[in-house]
Amino acid sequence: MEPVYHRLPVVDAGGMELHLPIVDLGPGPPRVCVVAGIHGDEPSPLVLVDRLVTLLRGRELRAGVRIVAAANMPALLQRARWSNWDDEDMNRIGDGGGGPAVTRRLAAAVVSACEGCEVAVNLHNFVMRTPLLAIMPPGQTEEHRARHEKYLAALDPHVVWVFGETPEDHRAFSGSLDAAIERRGVHVLAVEMADLPELDEPLIARALAGLMRVIALCGCLDDTERPPRRNRIDVHRRLVRAPGAGIFEPLAELGGKVAAGDIVGELIPLERPGARVPVYAPDPGWLIQRLGRRFVRPGDMIFTVGSPA
Ligand SMILES: [Zn+2]
Repeated sequence: MEPVYHRLPVVDAGGMELHLPIVDLGPGPPRVCVVAGIHGDEPSPLVLVDRLVTLLRGRELRAGVRIVAAANMPALLQRARWSNWDDEDMNRIGDGGGGPAVTRRLAAAVVSACEGCEVAVNLHNFVMRTPLLAIMPPGQTEEHRARHEKYLAALDPHVVWVFGETPEDHRAFSGSLDAAIERRGVHVLAVEMADLPELDEPLIARALAGLMRVIALCGCLDDTERPPRRNRIDVHRRLVRAPGAGIFEPLAELGGKVAAGDIVGELIPLERPGARVPVYAPDPGWLIQRLGRRFVRPGDMIFTVGSPA
């Protein structure tokens, strides 16, 4: 089934027209919307949606599947998390609140592109090496959690990041694009993965198989999909940031168990080569995300430890 490429007009930004690029596949209104490119420095979702369209065009679809190919074009063209046209983070402004800023109008367009669907899958990547990771958002009812669990079982990620339930966690989530889409009655699955240099074929395969099962679950495919592996872990996540500027050298194995106080990596300080600074795991658990060898600035994310949720 051939994809239909079209554009949702968003705004005439001073003589430059902005659109939301959409790919629709299958008959009837879309039941699933997969969104890539919310953050302009996260290119891995673009690889995934290319593979997904290629896979779906060879399949018989029972209902519509929509892909928002690049949600935040100004940020993508700047290869920055958000565009410097307005310095608004598309993931933190809900549905844009009717604001005139370009990113706000784009956020409103993404919300309306998802409207009417059963589920929206919002794809992101981290700079840290990251397995297929889905989010369990805070502040949800039992019913919502049960429904979320159904989609998680289909997606079958390596890791589920279970958010805390502090007022701060609730506030952060309620202002997100995901929450704005959910207020329109569309269930949201937020999915994270590794950045391009670490986006290997096994990770792409796992993500694609998961997306196909979610699409099948929504009634868009009736063929049997690859069975899930069901080896996921559900964790609370503790982030550790670079203590200074320099080169981070990873030592501990990604995905492995760590004890509190284990050395995860070392920082080669800019001003003191030969005087490496160890960086320790703060809690026991699994090393779920970690940078490869990278140049870091103070405060950059270097790894996360997941403890059982
Ligand atoms: Zn992101």
